[in-house]
Amino acid sequence: MVKNILIVFGTRPEAIKLAPVILELKKYPSLYNVIVCNTEQQKELSNQTLEFFNIKADIKLDCMRENQKLVDIQSRIMLKLQEVFSNNTIYATIVQGDTMSVLCGALVSFYNKVPVFHIEAGLRSNDIFEPFPEEAIRAMVSKITTLHFAPTNDAVKALKKEGINKNIFMVGNTSIDALKCLSDEIMQKTNKFLDTLNKDKLVLVTIHRRENHGDRLNFICKAIKDIASKFKDHSFLIPVHPNPNVKIKIYKELSNISNIILTEPLEYPMLINVMKNSKLILTDSGGIQEEAPSFNVPILVLRYETERIEGINAGFSKLVGADYNKIINETTNILIKNKEETRIYKDNPYGNGNASANIVNIIGKIDVI
Ligand code: UDP
Repeated sequence: MVKNILIVFGTRPEAIKLAPVILELKKYPSLYNVIVCNTEQQKELSNQTLEFFNIKADIKLDCMRENQKLVDIQSRIMLKLQEVFSNNTIYATIVQGDTMSVLCGALVSFYNKVPVFHIEAGLRSNDIFEPFPEEAIRAMVSKITTLHFAPTNDAVKALKKEGINKNIFMVGNTSIDALKCLSDEIMQKTNKFLDTLNKDKLVLVTIHRRENHGDRLNFICKAIKDIASKFKDHSFLIPVHPNPNVKIKIYKELSNISNIILTEPLEYPMLINVMKNSKLILTDSGGIQEEAPSFNVPILVLRYETERIEGINAGFSKLVGADYNKIINETTNILIKNKEETRIYKDNPYGNGNASANIVNIIGKIDVI
């Protein structure tokens, strides 16, 4: 009998990391009926991103509101998701990562006694407020998950440390699979924008985490402003996150500086092409810490903790937090070199692009009900 697999997500990074899994499951229509459910926690970014993979959501829950509080978005998603479970017979629910949509997807599934499959299980920074609320969501979801798909050996260890010993599978990170899913035609369209940039001396900057809102963002902006003034021949491209807590301050502090380019969030294929061509990346993004090693690019992480420790151990990334001096010093150390000298030629520690095939293979072998 064909099994209904419900995929619940709501943000851009989840759309990216679930797309290869959805495409892989859809290769087996005699086994699985994939129901793609977008909570639209992040409406435009999630829907737009899915399109690059030629996927459309079957169900859209329209849960996003302006300046949404955690409690508001949680209750909205929970109630709307329950309707999905009431109207369909679901074999298993797949969630990925650590957003509010993940927590709600897992929780409502659990309340309906439907097994939860968690992709990117076992990430831990071990600081419950960093990232907030994601670190707590990760741990809560692990408690009610049936199949844990861990991206790395460290993630497997973290789960075992919490007493989870059953059904943990090290499969790699699906973000690396996603890089291979974009068509040549889509990638080619991004070249025009790239040709307008100074590719030898390009620095990509992304900031969005809640912990970096407020004072920390002031320090980061000041450091970027000063480093841009020190390296006038370099271009600093900042795709600004739509969250008003980030957007308003960045535009206030970093507009009208000749070598700082502020843009809307870049479409995923464009971001990938920019990343590939960057000399250095400054970011607080989780996904970018995983993707950049595939392009040999060094990363300075604008956080004090990271659950992506493998990139640090392999020498791709360094933590600089929102520490003005560290940002200036570490950025300078890289920018004084030629781009070629800064490249790091090692395997990506987050995977080789086979994670989704591994996941679907395991789902096919284990009967969870
Ligand atoms: N990304 C994108 N456009 C941008 C910035 C990021 O497509 O302007 C992609 C990026 O390649 C990565 C994902 O979005 O795959 C990361 O999302 P984000 O940084 O919002 O979340 P996190 O990974 O920290 O959860």
